[in-house]
Amino acid sequence: VLVAPHEAYIGSIDQGTTSTRFLIFNRDGEPVASHQVEFKQYYPHPGWHEHDPLEIITSIETCIEGAVKSFEDNGHAARAIKAVGITNQRETTVVWDHETGEPLYNAIVWTDTRTQALVRKLKARLGSDKLQELCGLPLSTYPSVGKLLWLIENEPKVADAYSRGTLAFGTIDAWVVYRLNGGPKKNIFVTDPTNASRSMFMNIHTLKYDEQLLDFFRFDMNKLHLPKIVRSSDAEAYGTLTTGVLSGVPITGCLGDQSAALVGQKGFSPGRAKNTYGTGCFLLYHVGDKPVISTHGLLSTVAYDFDGTPQYALEGSIAVAGSSVKFLQNNFEFIKSSSQISVLAETVEDNGGVTFVTAFSGLFAPYWIDDARGTIFGITAYTQKGHVARATLEATCFQTKAILDAMEKDSGHALAELAVDGGMTNSDLCMQTQADLIGIPVERPRMLETTALGAAIAAGFAIGVWQNFEELKNVNTAGVTIFKPKISAQEKDKKFARWEKAVEMCRGWAD
Ligand code: ADP
Repeated sequence: VLVAPHEAYIGSIDQGTTSTRFLIFNRDGEPVASHQVEFKQYYPHPGWHEHDPLEIITSIETCIEGAVKSFEDNGHAARAIKAVGITNQRETTVVWDHETGEPLYNAIVWTDTRTQALVRKLKARLGSDKLQELCGLPLSTYPSVGKLLWLIENEPKVADAYSRGTLAFGTIDAWVVYRLNGGPKKNIFVTDPTNASRSMFMNIHTLKYDEQLLDFFRFDMNKLHLPKIVRSSDAEAYGTLTTGVLSGVPITGCLGDQSAALVGQKGFSPGRAKNTYGTGCFLLYHVGDKPVISTHGLLSTVAYDFDGTPQYALEGSIAVAGSSVKFLQNNFEFIKSSSQISVLAETVEDNGGVTFVTAFSGLFAPYWIDDARGTIFGITAYTQKGHVARATLEATCFQTKAILDAMEKDSGHALAELAVDGGMTNSDLCMQTQADLIGIPVERPRMLETTALGAAIAAGFAIGVWQNFEELKNVNTAGVTIFKPKISAQEKDKKFARWEKAVEMCRGWAD
């Protein structure tokens, strides 16, 4: 044991798609202080989505200062924070100069579809099956690789760094660790397997960069710097914070956001699953210590690697979930804040025949239709805003249903209940709809910050705050709300058939 466990608090950086948070957890897994800031989203062209990598770093620094201040205001001392974990939006691609540490372009966000044409070309050249066997992912606009190829092909500054051999690529975790350690001086350039498994460079079986994959994509490895893949929980590899109130505190855990949520929901054994309804929605199903390669449109991913025996998950990824609620707020001005979506939806009794396929970035799992775009079906003179609001919430629930069906086929196992978290689960109406459409109970914990908790758990394990999963037994168990299905199987099937028809009808819209 490196620290006395009962005196230890753990900080958790949760770098999400629309906001950054810093939470401080006690050993019981309760958040005792937190701070959150939203940062700017850049949409320079239709389908493009970027973040400013430096603003991301600043947002983290602001959150740490803010949370530690309220921690201290509550009578704690900052020195009680013994370690920090990181969890982050996955796939989002950052490129910087290995020598100066300066970003060469905005971060290309996971939802971005600018690589659609490039991905089509790659598919024609490579086919997708072989790649999926090696890295667990089908070729689509989603993983990092296409984003990096696009940058090298289209951005002179990036191409120049590549030709000079100073181009560094990282997902958000690698970028954040590198910068929080002070950049090129210490040059702590690492990533964890849950993040690396989203790049398409890593062999899912060995957790190492795969020469075959790198050759497929024609990368010259003399010109490209990739972060070293280290365990998700590690007392040394991630270095320490170098500035601010927590300067000197070690970073000892790192997990991609969806893996972190699985850990935060204590999905430590095969057969456990969780569904997180944030900006997108991601269902992870723990399959044990061997990857399962999906034949039904799911992804294989690393769940976590705490001790050198990596655990794997099958994943169903939905690109648009909470972001569709934000869309009704920001673009259509139907509501003033996300929480009002339920109120608006409850102004009507049902969807009034409206189906909204929220395919703003194409459709991800289990459909993988790159050229679909958002489509609203069934509008009549009767349609009210409330119907569209309902159809918006239902879209995520239908896609979850499709993913659960695929998961059952891949794993041969049907879930008995679904553990949920994420911003959109605040909507009781949405969760009741979900239970109705999947026909099993939906269980929502009171403490919804499971993603941040997962990163704290990874960090805590590395320094001995917890020694085994048994010690987490009582963490985040209080106040679970259970939504039980209320509609008949027939009614459920009828609704789902309509949804599937709508999905078929929105193929081929984007060039
Ligand atoms: P992320 O970590 O991806 O940024 P969060 O888990 O913080 O996401 O969830 C934020 C999303 O949840 C937003 O897109 C927001 O629209 C949605 N959301 C938040 N509160 C509600 C609510 N009460 N009802 C429906 N959606 C909500």
